[in-house]
Amino acid sequence: MASEPEFLICLNCETPTYSFEWVEGKITEALCTACGNDDPSEFMTETELDEQRT
Ligand SMILES: [Zn+2]
Repeated sequence: MASEPEFLICLNCETPTYSFEWVEGKITEALCTACGNDDPSEFMTETELDEQRT
């Protein structure tokens, strides 16, 4: 199981956010203060984002 990340990245604006809830390997809540996005499915960990790009 993935351990809790230090931050998540907003997929809308690619800004890191530290305002999130991480429960059992999943994002349950997240808020991007840059664009106001608060849909957990619109956030990824840095690792997940790197894997998508390669
Ligand atoms: Zn954002």
